[in-house]
Amino acid sequence: MSESSKPSAFETVNRLFNQAADLLGLSETKRIELTTPYRELMVRLPLLTEQGEVRVFRGYRVQHDNSRGPMKGGIRFHPDADLDEVRALASLMTWKTAVVNLPYGGAKGGIQCNPRELSELDLERLTRRFAQRMEGFIGPREDIPGPDMGTNARVMAWMMDEYSKFHGYSPGVVTGKPLELGGSEGRVSATGRGLFFAVERIAPDIGMELNGARVAVQGFGNVGYWAARFLSDAGCKVVAVSDVEGTLRCADGLDIEALREVAEQKGSVIHYDGADCERLHRDELIASDCDILVPAALGGTIHAGNAGSIRARLIAEGANHPTTPEADGILIERGITVLPDIYANAGGVTVSYFEWVQNLQQQRWDAERVDRELREVMHEAFDALNTAAEEFDVDLRTAAFVVAIRRVAEAARLRGLH
Ligand code: NAD
Repeated sequence: MSESSKPSAFETVNRLFNQAADLLGLSETKRIELTTPYRELMVRLPLLTEQGEVRVFRGYRVQHDNSRGPMKGGIRFHPDADLDEVRALASLMTWKTAVVNLPYGGAKGGIQCNPRELSELDLERLTRRFAQRMEGFIGPREDIPGPDMGTNARVMAWMMDEYSKFHGYSPGVVTGKPLELGGSEGRVSATGRGLFFAVERIAPDIGMELNGARVAVQGFGNVGYWAARFLSDAGCKVVAVSDVEGTLRCADGLDIEALREVAEQKGSVIHYDGADCERLHRDELIASDCDILVPAALGGTIHAGNAGSIRARLIAEGANHPTTPEADGILIERGITVLPDIYANAGGVTVSYFEWVQNLQQQRWDAERVDRELREVMHEAFDALNTAAEEFDVDLRTAAFVVAIRRVAEAARLRGLH
């Protein structure tokens, strides 16, 4: 436990790891081997800004495990990015890539900065400086960064360009690139689409008819919008959506494309003008009367204080760790099914993997192929989770860790202790 009584983000992930490790009877030695990060890099990044001021930023890359292949994980530009958070997210990537059976390990990185406060040129210089510091440690067969909070295709293009100066043209060093530089069709919508495939797969098992099912979505960014869009296309009725400014509730259902236009033009979903719509505080979304709840904003939004008010039968976690461990216990007790983050939001890393495969083979897949292969990955992973859940009589989150740990532990055993 860290100095304060609140467990650190890394300790929280390891708590989930240990629950599953107990079921598998994993030895203490094995637990230490599987939870200890492979490499942790911290760099200082001096930047001479356009304003002529010198600022020094901190950058991180934690490479957690490479037993199953090169390590994979995003880079976030965020004021709160610190070593503990990056370490926790790196370990989650190890388990996430294993759940969906990609030939990858896990990593994560970040620069502690507020990208909104930096000019485009400063952002480019900072990204290039970071890539210079990292170039000896990343690579298409070593560690493949991708976009995350505060970064995008533009940032990935700079990373790729800078790395290529040292190693020759290397599109496979990062994913989430612009299409023109070897990005993949379907990458932008991949997390929302993967989440939809997960919901589509579980619905018959829990006796839920998607046509007409009522959905509430927390957060209307990349994940929230695409999840809402695909669920709506499948006949679901999206009855509530929230963003940082508030909740919009509309019992008759929302037109997702019209909502997107309003959010883009006016800055928030709450400006949508529907006859029977009500506007509420953003935190009220969680208790919406619905069948499916999709948290797609921040971590920790489902907690002990609101888990009891949830009316959905199914929660599909688009965000990373939206549910606290205490809330998890309440949801299990209440019989609410949860599609856990390390499975439900793995569509993004899966299509990143498709991008890397296309780069290595110098091929291009069309959008139909990307969607078909993604559906297959998500459905197969669900079957593995379901089997583990039945075998150990546990919830799907614990089952996901069981599946992941088994795969990583076996790969590590076969490669030998190194
Ligand atoms: P984004 O920045 O595009 O969107 C975030 C949305 O959440 C915005 O609409 C914002 O207004 C809203 N929001 C912020 N605080 C809120 C609050 N307190 N209540 C309600 N809404 C709030 O981010 P994104 O890329 O959609 O990512 C969302 C989550 O999904 C994050 O947890 C991210 O780590 C996770 N995730 C994203 C991807 C991906 O491919 N983008 C993949 C896996 C996981």
